[in-house]
Amino acid sequence: MKKSYLVIGAGRFGSSVARTLYELGHDVMVIDNNETLIQQISNEVTDAITANAVSETSLKSLGVRDFDAIVLAIGFDIQASIMAAILLLELEAKHIIAKAQTELHGKVLHKIGVHRVVYPERDMGQKIAHSLNAPTIIDLIELSEEYSVVEVTAPENMVGKTIKDLDLRARYGISVIALRRNNGNKTNISPAAEDKVLPGDIIVAVGENKFLKKLEWV
Ligand code: ATP
Repeated sequence: MKKSYLVIGAGRFGSSVARTLYELGHDVMVIDNNETLIQQISNEVTDAITANAVSETSLKSLGVRDFDAIVLAIGFDIQASIMAAILLLELEAKHIIAKAQTELHGKVLHKIGVHRVVYPERDMGQKIAHSLNAPTIIDLIELSEEYSVVEVTAPENMVGKTIKDLDLRARYGISVIALRRNNGNKTNISPAAEDKVLPGDIIVAVGENKFLKKLEWV
């Protein structure tokens, strides 16, 4: 379903989020107080407007509460990020996702009521470290400090076995939430007990980090 997004800050992170959302078919408005950046992105999103995110008048005139979500992509200027977040919350923005530069910045954003805080540099750094440490890992999403979702190429010791044979849920509390067949791009969501892991399959599983790490894919 087509949604509408406001991206505040057209730096590397904000412009990448904005372009991708637009390519995915959504309505995307981008604002930045740097006119050159706005000109650069203007052909790649629905609307690009030069505006100051720390001005209540500007935010009001954009109708921030009408957007399905707002991505606050100001990182370096922590003061501007926090002030913009407060104004957006006061103007009843529905869902704010804010980028944080440091843990403390993130804590403040969280405390004032921002719905989701992301740390792109830290998270990408962790992902790269995990993929170097365990080359079978294609992706890893940390749900919390304890739990993650991993996407791994099925290790040899799992090939030929059924979900029941692997018994990951009883042994480690790990649930296999999807099996993706390499040939044909077929994804089996919520695989059944008798479904077999074939060579090249991609396993998507959720569980506690300490158990996910115990398996041979890690
Ligand atoms: P990135 O790493 O994504 O390039 P960054 O972490 O360096 O960004 P900033 O440079 O602080 O973050 O901010 C990103 C963008 O936000 C910049 O293009 C900047 O012009 C814009 N920006 C900063 N303050 C404001 C503001 N008050 N109003 C509008 N845009 C702003």
